[in-house]
Amino acid sequence: MRKKIVAGNWKMNLSREEALLLISGITSRIESKEKQVIFAPPFLYLYKIAKMCSNFNRIKVAAQNCSKEKEGAFTGEVSAKMIDSCNADYIIIGHSERREYFNESNMDLKEKVDRALENKLDVIFCCGESLNQRKNEVHFSWIRKQLSDSLFHLNAIDFSNIVIAYEPIWAIGTGVTASTNQAQEMHAFIRSCITEKHDTEVAEKTSILYGGSCNPSNSNELFAQEDIDGGLIGGASLNANDFLAIINSF
Ligand code: PEP
Repeated sequence: MRKKIVAGNWKMNLSREEALLLISGITSRIESKEKQVIFAPPFLYLYKIAKMCSNFNRIKVAAQNCSKEKEGAFTGEVSAKMIDSCNADYIIIGHSERREYFNESNMDLKEKVDRALENKLDVIFCCGESLNQRKNEVHFSWIRKQLSDSLFHLNAIDFSNIVIAYEPIWAIGTGVTASTNQAQEMHAFIRSCITEKHDTEVAEKTSILYGGSCNPSNSNELFAQEDIDGGLIGGASLNANDFLAIINSF
């Protein structure tokens, strides 16, 4: 059985007080025992939030990024080793905002994936196409390249620590969601790429999340699709009621 996951990517939002309130507002009301819930707060709150969540087996904590370097003179950077020492479980790697605003290439992301795994951290690896790429019908080849450049150097054992998040760029923070058909089609394609690279067993074990304007009114239909194993949620993860409703929607 694949892990069902709902992950909240807080991005650069919330003061420390707001962040702690949100966490207690969610953890005090969480009911689901079978889904994994992941919070991805800003680095500054990681340690505290990991501590607050440590009594909940099904709740994990993720960093939103890490340096591709191991350590050293890289002012302002945060290493995977530091993230591990704050008791986080995952690192989100390859979010489209990192790719676009910080020029992170597939090769940079490959190095980040390696840093995370070296430090025994799991990875939520984001991939997704722009609207133009979809219009020009190059979205499948684009996603295949993102996966193969950054992830397909891993053997099957290391690959078991990867969760994939398909996030069409045109749906992130726009209020436009991919249709269930578009999302399911791409998720099935991603799974077929993993089968080609490894085998069906590895592909069937890989959780693939959908991200892009997911909210309580569309999550149920999206998560009901065969190859959609949950969601990576941006905006709606900042509101306890919405995030809980999404968690409870499948
Ligand atoms: C995201 O940034 O990962 C995301 C899915 O954002 P939103 O849900 O706000 O579209």
